[in-house]
Amino acid sequence: MQLRWIAKFFAPSMALALAASPALAASHTAKHVAEHAPVNLASTHFNGNLAYEYADKFVACGPRWIGSPGHVCAENFLKQTFAKDNLEEDTFTASTPIGPLTMHNYIVRFPGKKDGVIVVASHYETNYWLRNTSFVGANDGGATVGLLVELGNLLRGSTLNGYSVWLVFFDGEESIQSKWTDQDSLYGSRHLAARWERDGTLKRIRAYMLTDMIGDKDLDICRESNSTPWLEDLIYKAAQQDGYAQYFFENSNFVEDDQLPFVKRGVPTADIIDIDYGPRSMMHPDGYHHTPEDTMDKISAHSLTVSGQTVLTTIHLLDQR
Ligand SMILES: [Zn+2]
Repeated sequence: MQLRWIAKFFAPSMALALAASPALAASHTAKHVAEHAPVNLASTHFNGNLAYEYADKFVACGPRWIGSPGHVCAENFLKQTFAKDNLEEDTFTASTPIGPLTMHNYIVRFPGKKDGVIVVASHYETNYWLRNTSFVGANDGGATVGLLVELGNLLRGSTLNGYSVWLVFFDGEESIQSKWTDQDSLYGSRHLAARWERDGTLKRIRAYMLTDMIGDKDLDICRESNSTPWLEDLIYKAAQQDGYAQYFFENSNFVEDDQLPFVKRGVPTADIIDIDYGPRSMMHPDGYHHTPEDTMDKISAHSLTVSGQTVLTTIHLLDQR
């Protein structure tokens, strides 16, 4: 993701608020749900410890830039994890600054009784331009893969009473070159949003929740200003219901992320993201973000419980609408 520090859409009042804020100026495979047990989301609890364990296993693949052995390992992790589910491998060729690259999104579908789909997404790869570092993206891609895997455990079973829920793992979220541009970023989400627009799938999506960097031990999820206000409000309501409101929406920011291709096409969308990650310094103006410091010790099971439970409760609230 890319934070629009000097964004063209930046509200002056928010720029002042940011300037005034020092914090912002700068091998567990147990399934909770038996194979054919009915799934009741209202009484289901998200297990952040398990989500952390899945993230830990996934991040152990090492750097997973496109073309690396770590990327193959990451893909195999997803294929094995969802081997018994309805898993689609969405392969496409992206035109990048270093030439055409083959990329792979993964989509896991859990069917529901209500007509419509809720999408929960994360990207899973790490940055090509950081390939010569030890960057493993524990919070940036890793944590939310763990979150989605645990969510899958809770959705697996018989048909859901509410909407179908689809988990999407995007490839190519990060830019190939170090300078982020509209053309060099968001490859997987741009591809899938365009494909789903062509085949009519987008019309079926009732809500699209993107998760990114929300395993941070010091969790402060921002209200993302490109996102759909009513869906952000519903997420806040879910957080309040679970007693987690203090982790949400103290600050607002415009973030460029895998939500944008869907926002542009009118899909109700929320980017659930914590852009404030680690201490900022002259050397690291963006804290741990995109540095070798983004490791598993910077994320916590508790933060994943907060994030995951809030997503789960939001799905439940969406089902009741
Ligand atoms: Zn990133």
